[in-house]
Amino acid sequence: MTAENSEPAGEILVRGGYVITMDAAGDIPGGDVHIRDGQIVAVGRGLGAQAAPGAEVMDAAGQIVAPGLIDTHWHMWNTLLRGLSDGVSPGGQPSGMEGSRLPSPLAPGDPPRMGGSSPPIPPRGYFATCVGLGRHFLPGDTYAGTRLACAEAADAGITTVHDWAHNIRGPQWAEAGLRALGESGLRARFSYGYETGHPNSRVMALDDLSRVAAAWPAFGAGGRIHLGMAWRGTGGSNPAMRVAPELYRAEIEAARGLGLPVSVHACGPRAAAGQIAAYAAGGLLGPDLQLVHLNNASRAEIALAAEHGTPVSVSPFTELQIGYGQPVTGALLAAGLPTGLSVDTTMLSGNADMFAIMKVTQGCANALAYDEFALTARDVLRLATIEGARSLGLDGVTGSLAPGKRADLIVVSVDAPNLGVLTDPARLLVTAAHPGNVHTVLADGRVLKRSGVLTGYDVAEVSQSAREALAGVLSRA
Ligand SMILES: [Zn+2]
Repeated sequence: MTAENSEPAGEILVRGGYVITMDAAGDIPGGDVHIRDGQIVAVGRGLGAQAAPGAEVMDAAGQIVAPGLIDTHWHMWNTLLRGLSDGVSPGGQPSGMEGSRLPSPLAPGDPPRMGGSSPPIPPRGYFATCVGLGRHFLPGDTYAGTRLACAEAADAGITTVHDWAHNIRGPQWAEAGLRALGESGLRARFSYGYETGHPNSRVMALDDLSRVAAAWPAFGAGGRIHLGMAWRGTGGSNPAMRVAPELYRAEIEAARGLGLPVSVHACGPRAAAGQIAAYAAGGLLGPDLQLVHLNNASRAEIALAAEHGTPVSVSPFTELQIGYGQPVTGALLAAGLPTGLSVDTTMLSGNADMFAIMKVTQGCANALAYDEFALTARDVLRLATIEGARSLGLDGVTGSLAPGKRADLIVVSVDAPNLGVLTDPARLLVTAAHPGNVHTVLADGRVLKRSGVLTGYDVAEVSQSAREALAGVLSRA
């Protein structure tokens, strides 16, 4: 069962909700949203039966209606490895699992287990685990991981995702990810990348990127998905993995030759400071190059990014978890950079709860500024909606509720113990709501979640197939 063959986009009237448009119309208490053939045709009060006599009416009275949430960078394939960022023992058992034949990874303060006849120390941490297990993915595993991520996105009210596909081990892996996105009903950018463990002495598979670009209409789900390139740049987030300038330049020029937007991890860890300066010196910055993280970018580098209009993506949970220091959202916004929020990887973030991502973004920004009002709830909701869309070049299509835009929206029910009252709706979404409060999700006018239940996925089956795929990966590792 997939969204692709479930409910078609028809005519819908979402009636009587507290509508947060994130557009010039502002908030409309008791407002309606009229949708026809996947497009918003009207937003306002009292649109009623005359305007839309044949429409299916969705009663949103007392509920919050908002634009669908927008993720701007997510390695969806490795959702299969959720919970494994601390590593896997060489015996193929996730660390700490019952039956593991090998020692668990070292805890902070443990003496190193080295030399003699001791078993080898299992590789630890996100990068080692991601690369080590990523090598053993088959196309079906990429499909299972991406599909689980898509189901989580739809459930959590995320209607646009940026699938940063950095484990494409051949054409079939790319097509597996694209199949999962196509079936999902979500709006997406698919950023075609390299494979984990790709040698830094070789360019990525530009021939296959060209093939996919040439055949794009077959993959684009009627315009819902667009193609981009996931670029290593000078070496991604791992400065130990240096890529020579002639190689990374060849890659970005190939993408630009195909007219594709590009995304790169930049200045995340401390040791990666200076990456933006290198791109600026090479004349490579531009509005088609999304920069991810920037925690350790200098003020001068942020200014360079702003000068060239580069969009950015902040992923607070993974940045905190992996030790990149604090997100620098306030500095990015002060510089005028189009800024979106992102899941990045559920190996580190655990889940794709964009409500929590908004909340921690606000908390970190206020903490760094020593100011309760440095970033308001309304500001951060903008980042997760219209600014996220702008970061992906989709602000003419989604990110706000306005006539002419595609119908990507969520209805959040306040009938829950963690809500209950309808006070400041933006603040409730940012500080109080969680994915379980998402009552209804529409993407491109299609109902992906109705009355709290996903329409396109059998969650038990998606989960079972993810577990089976993971077992296969671990057995081969
Ligand atoms: Zn990332």
